[in-house]
Amino acid sequence: MSSEEFAPFLDERALWSSIDREAAPDAARIDDILVKARQGAGLDLDEAAALLAPLPEGRLEALYETALELKERVYGRRMVIFAPLYVSNLCGNNCAYCAFNARNKDLERKSLDPDEIAREVRLIENMGHKRVMAVYGDHPRWNAETIADSVSHIYSVKSPPSGEIRRVNVNCAPMKSEGFARLKQAGIGTYQCFQETYHRETYKAVHLGGKKKDYDWRLFALHRANLGGVDDVGLGVLFGLFDHRFEVLALLRHAKALEDAFGAGPHTISFPRIEPAQNSEISHNPPNVISDETFKRIIAVVRLALPYTGMIITTREGPVLKRDLLRLGISQLSAASRTSPGGYQSASANNPEAQQFWVGDERNLPEIIEALQADGYIPSFCTSCYRKGRTGDHFMGFARSAFIHTFCDPNALMTYYEYLLDYASADAKAKGIGYVRELAGKLPEAGRDKLLALLARIDAGERDILV
Ligand code: SAM
Repeated sequence: MSSEEFAPFLDERALWSSIDREAAPDAARIDDILVKARQGAGLDLDEAAALLAPLPEGRLEALYETALELKERVYGRRMVIFAPLYVSNLCGNNCAYCAFNARNKDLERKSLDPDEIAREVRLIENMGHKRVMAVYGDHPRWNAETIADSVSHIYSVKSPPSGEIRRVNVNCAPMKSEGFARLKQAGIGTYQCFQETYHRETYKAVHLGGKKKDYDWRLFALHRANLGGVDDVGLGVLFGLFDHRFEVLALLRHAKALEDAFGAGPHTISFPRIEPAQNSEISHNPPNVISDETFKRIIAVVRLALPYTGMIITTREGPVLKRDLLRLGISQLSAASRTSPGGYQSASANNPEAQQFWVGDERNLPEIIEALQADGYIPSFCTSCYRKGRTGDHFMGFARSAFIHTFCDPNALMTYYEYLLDYASADAKAKGIGYVRELAGKLPEAGRDKLLALLARIDAGERDILV
């Protein structure tokens, strides 16, 4: 099915009208919106626009409190952790903001062969990770068939006694729905594709060559993924290219279009913010600089608008801001990341000559986990939902009925417990086990007894118990 066969869903003028109508909301308007949002009812475009406008006194704090409350209610304390796995930086596109840009002759180009992939996977597994986001540049070497083969290969690499990747998500160039069907066959989790900017003029100005120039082909990529059977899809905007208010409203419109067409909105939304990239002038001087304060506002507004959608923050952001963003709505983060193919093996770690952009958080996985636990989160390596068939509209159904706690909290606690037994230092293990047992003790009686029985099975050597 070609992009022309899908109904258009983005009307730029309508987005600007919302922004203009809500340019100066008064306190009563914001209070009404927050009351509605607190119930988990989402936001319409005007309401989201109002929350992105300059706010009357005290209302920014109220917005943040509402986001925090909603996040805790829907997601509890769990924080899902993954590692990116850069498979190839070969790329035929010319995106002005990216170091993979075909015109960047200074980047060391690399496409991992099966042995190199296996080496990277083992290093990731030996840290304790259970899910990866495999990233591929846009190049004929990487088509549906070869990407699917590499996904199967990643799943096949095991590091005894318990190292394995249980969920491979993919970020690669859009393809036809038949290609997505092939990825589905290989067992991919989420297919992730960022529109970068929803503003057509800006899109045209920064995508200067290659297939990515075609705005509509990219806009409907996630529709085609759904048609191909990949019903877990991830959206994103590269913040910094255009007016963030327009981008957030467009993102919400895109989410709604997917929900209308397939009964399920996006599984995740990612929030990349432009980082300096090699030989990319625009990445060093983004046209719409997004301050930390604006970034926090974006996260809080999307959390209110889409209470049940996973929200991902990556390696790009530093530890201090990340802490605030986790409180306001983020539910997944990448940790101990390398953004170049072979980066986990390379002695020089994040080699600037090969990586896609500068990494803002250099902490290793134990450090990140320690900080998460200190802030009261449950580091989660859970991969249960998609393996138990809770994806797409099924997943949304479960999430919406707040059933999520029945699965997510026990799965988060169990996978963290596994991590502690298998990978943590003696000190972290002692503290972590005490923490897991303390949280388990606070569950209602039936859930607590069930979980304690499951933890005993893990103590006895069982792994990967799915609830
Ligand atoms: N070929 C795939 C595609 O077509 O989407 C992968 C592209 S790229 C490797 C993955 C994502 O990195 C992009 O979608 C973009 O949002 C992000 N990215 C590119 N340059 C960036 C920069 N300078 N700072 C932060 N993120 C960047």
